[in-house]
Amino acid sequence: MKLILLGPPGAGKGTQAADVVDRYNIPHISTGDIFRKNLREETPLGKKAKEYMDKGELVPDEVTIAMVEDLLKDMDSYMLDGFPRTVAQAEALDKFLSARNEKLDVALCINADYSLLVKRIVGRRMCKDCSQTYHTEFHPPKKDGVCDKCGGQLYQRDDDKEETVQKRLDEYESKTKPLIEYYEKKNILKNVDGSRSVEEVSKDIFKILDEC
Ligand code: ADP
Ligand code: ADP
Ligand code: ZN
Repeated sequence: MKLILLGPPGAGKGTQAADVVDRYNIPHISTGDIFRKNLREETPLGKKAKEYMDKGELVPDEVTIAMVEDLLKDMDSYMLDGFPRTVAQAEALDKFLSARNEKLDVALCINADYSLLVKRIVGRRMCKDCSQTYHTEFHPPKKDGVCDKCGGQLYQRDDDKEETVQKRLDEYESKTKPLIEYYEKKNILKNVDGSRSVEEVSKDIFKILDEC
């Protein structure tokens, strides 16, 4: 199974991806998590990505596409979370897949209203060891500042601070939203209302994926 997860920052992509991975046993590839790992380890890729991530901008297509293609070349099942995010990335992915006689099964688009997205983003806390996300109000950890899953320390991403959030949502509107139509035309788009509880959203997603 090959899936992509579309949707604005804060829609719940990472949260839902964790449940999908548990149920279907497919690798979860989050380009944001990969960039953050490189940033922490101060690799050349991390240093390059940081310039853009700090400003809430997308990392350039050529950097992102090369990184993802390198990862996917040995895999036949995956869920891409946060890739593609531009039409150029989507076209590159199509070209990559068709050269291998492969195709995407589903493009899931999770969405929610603007004000809810902002609330979710500014309250998000992330585990520095396993990337599990929490929310100060909607999904607090059992112990303040500590990951329930692995005991790692929770932190607020720099780009989740209020001053960068607007830019990220603008980037989504102008560069990523056109992908909805792109996948609609390919007849693989499935919309999911992400404004409900985590369990309700998962239920919809499982229903869609069970039928694939
Ligand atoms: P994305 O990967 O789309 O940016 P996340 O999955 O990281 O979004 O979720 C953003 C924030 O909102 C996190 O703090 C998460 O705990 C919280 N969240 C995610 N889904 C829901 C939901 N259905 N209801 C309430 N809070 C949610
Ligand atoms: P969110 O879950 O809030 O949508 P991500 O963790 O997916 O955020 O992404 C964080 C940042 O990493 C983005 O703002 C962008 O700078 C960079 N990034 C992640 N995926 C991509 C991509 N496919 N193309 C370009 N930049 C990306
Ligand atoms: Zn953790």
